[in-house]
Amino acid sequence: MQPSEVLQTVFGYNTLRPGQQPVVDAILSGRDVLAVMPTGAGKSLCYQLPALCLPGITLVVSPLISLMRDQVMALVQQGVAAAFLNSSLTPGQYAKATANMAAGKYKIIYVAPERLLTPRFQAALAGLEVSLVAVDEAHCVSQWGQDFRPGYLQIAPFIAGLPTRPPVAAFTATATPAVRQDIAALLQLDDPHIEMTGFDRPNLRFRVIRPQNRNAALLRLLEEFDGQSGIVYCMTRKAVDAVCELLERKGISAAKYHAGMEDDARRAAQEDFLFDRVRVMVATNAFGMGIDKSDVRFVIHYNMPLDLESYYQEAGRAGRDGEPGQCVLLYSGQDVRTAQFLIDKGAESADDAPPPDPVLKQRAEERLRRMTFYCNSRRCLRAELMRYFGQPCAPQCGNCSVCLGEGSAAGEAVNFGGAAVRRQAKPLAEGPMDSGLFERLKKKRAELARRQGVPAFVVFTDATLRQMCIQAPADRAALLQVSGVGEAKARRYGDEMLEVIRAWKEEQGS
Ligand SMILES: [Zn+2]
Repeated sequence: MQPSEVLQTVFGYNTLRPGQQPVVDAILSGRDVLAVMPTGAGKSLCYQLPALCLPGITLVVSPLISLMRDQVMALVQQGVAAAFLNSSLTPGQYAKATANMAAGKYKIIYVAPERLLTPRFQAALAGLEVSLVAVDEAHCVSQWGQDFRPGYLQIAPFIAGLPTRPPVAAFTATATPAVRQDIAALLQLDDPHIEMTGFDRPNLRFRVIRPQNRNAALLRLLEEFDGQSGIVYCMTRKAVDAVCELLERKGISAAKYHAGMEDDARRAAQEDFLFDRVRVMVATNAFGMGIDKSDVRFVIHYNMPLDLESYYQEAGRAGRDGEPGQCVLLYSGQDVRTAQFLIDKGAESADDAPPPDPVLKQRAEERLRRMTFYCNSRRCLRAELMRYFGQPCAPQCGNCSVCLGEGSAAGEAVNFGGAAVRRQAKPLAEGPMDSGLFERLKKKRAELARRQGVPAFVVFTDATLRQMCIQAPADRAALLQVSGVGEAKARRYGDEMLEVIRAWKEEQGS
C-alpha cells in the first residue's frame, strides 16, 4: 500500500503534520534519521507509518514500559498487529509473545534495549526480516543527558549483528547539540537526515504567575479550569503530599504520584488519571515519562522546575490532541533557592540522585539561570522558549501571559510595564459545533472505552469528536472522512457513534 493510503485507512488522517513528511520520506528511501521533536509533535506516526509500508518488521526500542503498553494498545485499536517485550510481562506472557514474534505474527514490536542481545530475543528474531529500527527517547544513549540508560549502548552492536542493516531512525525531545552529536555517534547513524520540528505548540498558552499565596493561586486556577483534566507538578514529595491533601479537602478529585510511593499505589494513581477516574494528578517530575494521555487540558507547575528542558517537556503534556492547553508556572524567589540547594546536593531533582560531578553541576546552574530568566522575562514567553531551543519564532505570539498583558493573578500584579503587548489571543480553529452533541458523543465514547478496557482518548480523541460534531456524518463512508477515524475504528465503533449522531439530528429536526 502507498503511505497516503495507509495513513488514511489505518490512522484516519488525510495529511501528515509539518515535519512528519520528511521523516517518513527519508525512512522509506532507506536513509537513517535523527528527529528532534518535542512531546506531542506526533513522532510515533513517523515510524509507525513507514513500518506498515515496509515489507519486514519494525523494532521500536523504548525505555518506557507504560509508553510501550499505551502505544501497542492504540495500534491494536487501529487494527495493527503489534506487541511489546519488556519486564512487565510474566515469563509465560513473554514466551508467548516471542513465539508469536518468531511465527511472524507482528508487524511492529516494542522492545526494551536490554532484551535486544538476549538469546531468547535473538532466537525469535532469526529468520525475520527487520525493515526498520526506531529508537525512541534516543537521548538515553548519551551520558550527557539526564536519562542515561546503559542498555541503550547495546543498540549499535545489535544493529551491527543483523544480516542486513535496516535504516535506523532515532527520536528525541532533547535538542541540545552535544546530546544530538552523541546520539548520532553512539547509535552509529549513517549520514542521517536531521529533522528538528514541531517545537512551537501554538495551542498551548504559557503563563507565569508570581503569587502571594501559592495555594490560593492554585485553587483559583483549578476553578478556572473547572471540569478539565490536568497535572500539578511540585518540586518535592512533601509538597505533593500537602497539595494533594489540600485539593481533597477542597473537594477536588485528585491523585498523587512520586517515587517514594509503593509501585502498586503509583500504578493505581496513574490508571485513575488515565481512565478519568480522578481529575487532577499531583506529582513530582517522576510522573509523565511515557504518559500518553492526549486530553490533558492543563499543566500547572506549583514550583519552578530546574531547567527549561524539563519545563517544556512537562508543560508539553497539555494539549497533545491539538486542542487548547494551559501551561501555568507559579514562581517565587524561594524556588530559586530550593533549586540551588538541590543542585548543591548533587541531585538533578528531588526525586532522583545521580552522583555529584563538578561539570554537571556547572551545567545545571547555567540551566537554572536560564529558567529563572524565563520566569522574570518581560518578553513573549513563547519567543523565550523558542530562542532557548534555537527555533525560529515571531517576536510576539499573542497567546502567553506577557503578550496578553496578564502580569499575574488578579490583584497580585507583577508590573510588566510598557513591555506588555496587549493582543487578543488567536482564536483556535473552530467550526460551528453543538456542545450538546459533543457531550453525548463523549458519553458514548466513555461507554465504548469501558467496554474495551482502554482509556477514552484511545478510542477517539476530543479533536476527532469535535470534527464529528461539525461534520455530523450520516454513514460509514462519511465517518471515514473525519480526521482520526481509520477503518478499524470505523468498523469497531462506527455504528454506535453514527447512531448517537442520527438520534441527535432527528431531535434537532434536521
Ligand atoms: Zn507571547
